[in-house]
Amino acid sequence: MSVVSSVCCYCGTGCGVLIEADAGVITGVHGNPAHPANFGKLCTKGATLHLSAQASGRALYPELRQDRAAPRERVSWDAALDHAANRFSAIIREHGPDAVGFYISGQLTTEDYYVFNKLAKGLIGTNNVDTNSRLCMSSAVAGYKATLGADAPPGCYEDIDHAGVIFIAGSNTAYAHPILFRRIEAARKKNPDLKLIVVDPRRTDTAAEADLHLSILPGTDVALFHAMLNVMLWEEWIDRDYLAAHTEGWDSLRNLVREYTPEKMAPLCGVAAADIVQAARWFAAGPTLSLYCQGLNQSTCGVDKNAALINLHLATGQIGKPGAAPLSLTGQPNAMGGREVGGMAHLLSAHRDMGNPEHRAEVARLWGVDDVPATPGKTAVELFEAVRSGEIKALWIACTNPAQSMPDQALIDEALRTAEFVVVQEAFADTETVRYADLLLPAATWGESEGTMTNSERCISRVRAAVPPPGEARPDCDVVVDFAHRLGDRLASNRPDKSLVRDGRKLFPYTSPEEVFNEHREFTRGRDLDISGLSYALLDQAPQQWPFPAGAQTGTPRLYGDGVFPTASGRATFYAAPYRPVAEPIDARFPLHLNTGRLRDQWHGMSRTGLVPRLYAHVEEPLLSMNRLDMDRRQLKDGDLVRVKSRRGSLVIKVQASDELRGSQTFIPMHWGGRFMAGQGVNTLTQRSVDPVSRQPELKHCAVQVEKVELPYRRAIMRRGDGAELLRLARPFLAHFDFATAGLTGRNNSVLVFQAASAGPLPESLVQEMDQAFGLDEPLLTMNYQDARRGIWKKARVEDGVITGARLSGEIAAYDWIKGLIAEGASAMDVRGWLLAPVAQPPAGSAGRGRVVCNCLNVAEPDIVAAIAGGADLAALQATLKCGTECGSCVPELKRLIAGKRV
Ligand code: SF4
Repeated sequence: MSVVSSVCCYCGTGCGVLIEADAGVITGVHGNPAHPANFGKLCTKGATLHLSAQASGRALYPELRQDRAAPRERVSWDAALDHAANRFSAIIREHGPDAVGFYISGQLTTEDYYVFNKLAKGLIGTNNVDTNSRLCMSSAVAGYKATLGADAPPGCYEDIDHAGVIFIAGSNTAYAHPILFRRIEAARKKNPDLKLIVVDPRRTDTAAEADLHLSILPGTDVALFHAMLNVMLWEEWIDRDYLAAHTEGWDSLRNLVREYTPEKMAPLCGVAAADIVQAARWFAAGPTLSLYCQGLNQSTCGVDKNAALINLHLATGQIGKPGAAPLSLTGQPNAMGGREVGGMAHLLSAHRDMGNPEHRAEVARLWGVDDVPATPGKTAVELFEAVRSGEIKALWIACTNPAQSMPDQALIDEALRTAEFVVVQEAFADTETVRYADLLLPAATWGESEGTMTNSERCISRVRAAVPPPGEARPDCDVVVDFAHRLGDRLASNRPDKSLVRDGRKLFPYTSPEEVFNEHREFTRGRDLDISGLSYALLDQAPQQWPFPAGAQTGTPRLYGDGVFPTASGRATFYAAPYRPVAEPIDARFPLHLNTGRLRDQWHGMSRTGLVPRLYAHVEEPLLSMNRLDMDRRQLKDGDLVRVKSRRGSLVIKVQASDELRGSQTFIPMHWGGRFMAGQGVNTLTQRSVDPVSRQPELKHCAVQVEKVELPYRRAIMRRGDGAELLRLARPFLAHFDFATAGLTGRNNSVLVFQAASAGPLPESLVQEMDQAFGLDEPLLTMNYQDARRGIWKKARVEDGVITGARLSGEIAAYDWIKGLIAEGASAMDVRGWLLAPVAQPPAGSAGRGRVVCNCLNVAEPDIVAAIAGGADLAALQATLKCGTECGSCVPELKRLIAGKRV
């Protein structure tokens, strides 16, 4: 067995992992005790990475279709990349370089990002390279640049231990960055005076822990931050010396916020004026560490929100000192690395600006090309709009799933169907985007490739391969370099003026990611993110925080301790932007706010976590959460089906009451797309309005209406087997229903759970097709009960005395407990007589386990609730049931259950 150190590929916390591998297979994963981001801890997602690293569900071979109507067929890598080079060069020759585009990912390594960026800007001559980081961090980037002068988070995780106040805004840290939240819990335990303020419209697990929760109305953050500054001004909390020595632009901001009194802003923000005053006082007293994420970023005034928060730090001098800093939490594991190499449509390498002629000349000189294009490329939403209009004809998508994650899915669907040529470079075979691929290139993924990533605190870690990629999958960097050689050859033969020829082989001479890293390193020399002192050899010893210039002995945990900022004047700039409301306010037709966000145990579009059955144990299916009074008004009860409709589309989903939400607010997790539910998922509803500066879309808010739908014919199929394969089989059936979801359950076994509802009985042919697909049509293995008069028809599959599948139609009362039995691999002996009966309760001794709260130790909610009813507190739960003693992700929920507030 080998053990290789690497990093988790999910969130921007950037936890270090130790990957165990045996005979070319990843067999286990543990937190790396030596990694400064997590000191050995992992959350539920990180701790199950090895379970996601199976060959099942992977893209294994290049596949090509010459004709949209035909299926893709397996081809060799040579044929695949030659075809791609031919198509790209022909389009570039005929329509120019801006007729092609690249949409890449914050999950790529820095080296992958670097070569994609150079391919577009250096070889082809287009800036049309953008990334899903646009959906995630671009407002944070623009906020930093507008105030502090550079895209450089000033703080570090260690500040959590030094802070007197932690101010979390627009982040459910307990779910989205769980290991950081563990650190906050530990710091509070050590320092009971440490205050936690949480700004979030929802009472999330993070907010439930707060000393002060400001449950603001959606999109009113700027008004709140300005009101806090107003209090600081009024009560003389402003650090005048710091202002005079290190900042500029104060007068305009002071004049602006005079109008933002707490009394005036309280009704607009939906919080008490006294709470605004309290928040301002605690913040100003500090030392204050602000942690913030998509609640600020995914907004049409995301830059204003980021900058308004940074204003508070500058005004009180809460920056550059231990425990005092604004620290944006990076959504993805390497959104920061992508920005370092300029891998976005408006950036150039090493934090250079595309609009600066000197910066363009520097990049061109370092790459050895005559120039780099000056006009910014298309950002994410614009890119797909340009594909739909035909302006961009060929699109290369790598390591991301826009057909699930982009807002306004109708646009994305139309764009990808309109494009002349779509390349998808992807590790997983069945993502929503893969179905649009004319050319599918199988990519290596976590545990299979080499490079580096940078986490939220500017810490660069080595990413390492523990096993070779399966099938013919190749590392992303390798694929890009190979393609660049082939495309360069073709572009050279196109150009009549050979002096302008860009030699793809000369531009991409790399034989390893390390060579790419070394070239990137040179670009940073003398820049704010200087890493000229770093090398793979050094990073192999330990992760390091940039800047790390040549000659440095250590990295740099904190920035701006000297009060000097990377601006023309050396001073930080106050940013005076007035409050603007959300782009799509609620009205009589669409009277509810819809918020979207993460769950604890799923990641993004579920291409990886959706293949791990136990990660559904916490939340099994997509649900609309709603305030109880809003449900009562619509005569809805938990589990009812509702149609959620926005101006762009609609979906049918189950509803559940939530005491996390105020009236008029709803929430749907961001994870479920068209692969796991009927329709195109939550982003059918969301909007593509963007921030005017960062071009980041307002994924966090749109206006919706909710109405009950009657689909009386319910259906459930459960089948044990290979989860990825069963999900693949289930997918085509989703489209036959107004309501349908597909997912997995189980711990040691993988069980498909397919739920659906329709207005009437299904056509006989469809019933047979589904039975056949899931092995419920074999008479010798299948028990059968049919009541044609009542439209009820049930089947159970029993193999060697064990229940391995079931189908319930017309009446699904037994769904929960039968699902549990199949997942447990239970014997059919004791329940044979009950299997097909209309009973919601199982026979004695075979009860379903209920929702699993502690995923690490497999502790279910009914057991926890029973223990609490018997008087157990958190310590007793941990001592007896052991829940919350491993990764700790469930501790906030345990506390909530103890407080008697069920989710
Ligand atoms: Fe991975 Fe969880 Fe750490 Fe994020 S907090 S990097 S998901 S282990």
